[in-house]
Amino acid sequence: MSFNQGSRLDTSQVSDRRGGLGGKIAIGGGGLILLIASLLGVPPELLQSLTGASPSSGQAAADGQELRLECETGADANARRDCRVVATVNSLNRYWGEALPRYNLQYPVPDAVLFDGQVSTGCGSATSAVGPFYCPRDSTAYFDVGFFDQLTDQLGAAEGPLAEEYVVAHEFGHHIQNLTGVLDYSQQDPQGQGSGAVRVELQADCYAGVWAGNATQQVDPATGEPFMQPLTNEDLSDAISAASAVGDDRIQEASSGQVNPHTWTHGSSEQRRAWFSQGYETRDPAACDTFNAADLDRP
Ligand SMILES: [Zn+2]
Repeated sequence: MSFNQGSRLDTSQVSDRRGGLGGKIAIGGGGLILLIASLLGVPPELLQSLTGASPSSGQAAADGQELRLECETGADANARRDCRVVATVNSLNRYWGEALPRYNLQYPVPDAVLFDGQVSTGCGSATSAVGPFYCPRDSTAYFDVGFFDQLTDQLGAAEGPLAEEYVVAHEFGHHIQNLTGVLDYSQQDPQGQGSGAVRVELQADCYAGVWAGNATQQVDPATGEPFMQPLTNEDLSDAISAASAVGDDRIQEASSGQVNPHTWTHGSSEQRRAWFSQGYETRDPAACDTFNAADLDRP
């Protein structure tokens, strides 16, 4: 999905921590993975061998500095991945800020951080190998834009802006779950088909679809025009391709050659595709009740 060229971006909603502490801190032990909500159901060391990701190094940048200079309009969001994250975060905050009060919930805006290599969080330190994730302890979503190359090159997703925007929207889905209280089910019942973890992840996919279905309706008060252009069939198939690419069965098959549903944490490719579509078609968060779904294959 493309942003309208003249839309104004609010870079204050995203912190730029790229060029951080390269190479000095190892991943924060076994505890980290249980405390975060990620896009991928795979241990980071496995993902690292699957994707060849490794920590990078560089010079520390002040939070937001580069983003403020270079991300100003929808045209920047269409041209640059980091600006696209900013624009997507802006749209997500606008949508959820309007939607949640209808369910008698407040929407505290989460923090969003761009990093590369590694980052320290309220849940411990993490490397890019974890993939995009949300830490409930600091209510922050973390993104390494380099992951989007891995999504297409190693995990086989289609390229395209909505594929990337889906990833951002999925992590914001975990923020909504942190507010509604269901995120805990992921820890309490952490693996297997139909587990709490799988239901949490599929609901986050559904919330991503809900956002995509509503985003094109949002009007920029500054310009009186929609922030985003209407979704094309290609946009939609890109996002569905991304949701499928991060299915447990697909990743297990690629990493070990075997599929073991007893260790699933995020759901199958087909389930992830189906729940994203459910959200997109209904545009209603109430249609994302994976916890009472009789059959996760058919929302
Ligand atoms: Zn997730």
